[in-house]
Amino acid sequence: FKQIALLKIFKYVIILTMNKMSDSFGRSFPYIRLSITDVCNFKCGYCLPNGYFKVENKPGFLDLDEISNLVAAFTKLGVSKIRITGGEPTVRKDFFEVLRNIKSEHKINNLVITTNGYKLNEIAEELIATGINGINISIDSLDRNKFKEITGKDRLPQILEGINILQNKGFKNIKVNAVLLKNVNDSLEEFQNWERFINNNEIDFRYIELMQTGDNLEYFKKYHISASNFRKYIESTDWKEISQIRDAGPSINYVHSKLKGKFGIIAPYSKNFCITCNRLRITAKGELRLCLFGNTGANLRPYLQNQNQKDELVELILKQLRFKKESHYLETGNTGITPHLASIGG
Ligand code: SAM
Ligand code: SF4
Repeated sequence: FKQIALLKIFKYVIILTMNKMSDSFGRSFPYIRLSITDVCNFKCGYCLPNGYFKVENKPGFLDLDEISNLVAAFTKLGVSKIRITGGEPTVRKDFFEVLRNIKSEHKINNLVITTNGYKLNEIAEELIATGINGINISIDSLDRNKFKEITGKDRLPQILEGINILQNKGFKNIKVNAVLLKNVNDSLEEFQNWERFINNNEIDFRYIELMQTGDNLEYFKKYHISASNFRKYIESTDWKEISQIRDAGPSINYVHSKLKGKFGIIAPYSKNFCITCNRLRITAKGELRLCLFGNTGANLRPYLQNQNQKDELVELILKQLRFKKESHYLETGNTGITPHLASIGG
């Protein structure tokens, strides 16, 4: 156990040393979240309750060459982890090609995706073949009716079947996320369902506290609840907090001596949440966003048009980092230019 911990620390130190991006608050950024589409086929109440509406045709989402040029610049800056997200990234026709290109051309160590998993059962094998290192799947409840109520789609069986296929093929790094919603999926029964699920499947599960965005104020007021009840439940049932190497993610994780899997909590409103921020975001149209919220960012797209622009692009990214603020200031209710997380890749 000690050896594994030491190895993790060693890996983290290497990542930090190689990373050339840091901001005025001493944070470094080995991790980018790259949205490849705003389009989504679900209607999650907190995100796109009326589904995705195409706003305009042009410009479209970044194409394969633009993505490749972008990844090349970030690799030069020492980025070692890329999360492909959206909207729903798997709806893009060239989704697998995007993954294969990033993996083979740029040798990214840690390429992961976030998906709603709506056709995971059909794509699981092809997904593994791309060489990705991990997958986050959003499942707001294991109760089929509730799942449908929250997301607008009756797809839970296909998602669970997909997880089974991934596991039977030996794919290891699977995490499940649910947005915690007051009086919807915050009951003891739900917590126990998840406990059984993660123990049976040896999977990590995290609740994310609902965040306010530009479009969801009413929903937020009705359904936001802090994760303190869930925390109380897990602490009273012998789950123990573990320290976390922070190239990973913002979640606080818990393990159990007798049960498999991990529980986690992502609490964006908690004090100090932003101290460990280690990621930058790129929208599907090539805007660099320094934070999920706020108004800071820059359009990188003009610099993605050919490979010779790499140095200019690197310079622009480094300059922009100076504008990264200390916190998202979400507690003030100012959500900046983020209407919903599908627009920025949550
Ligand atoms: N469509 C994919 C999915 O749902 O996994 C990827 C994009 S989605 C925007 C990424 C994550 O953000 C999902 O886990 C989703 O549940 C979460 N999310 C979306 N809106 C949210 C909000 N207002 N507060 C907290 N989490 C949110
Ligand atoms: Fe789509 Fe993901 Fe937003 Fe749900 S959370 S509407 S699946 S982008």
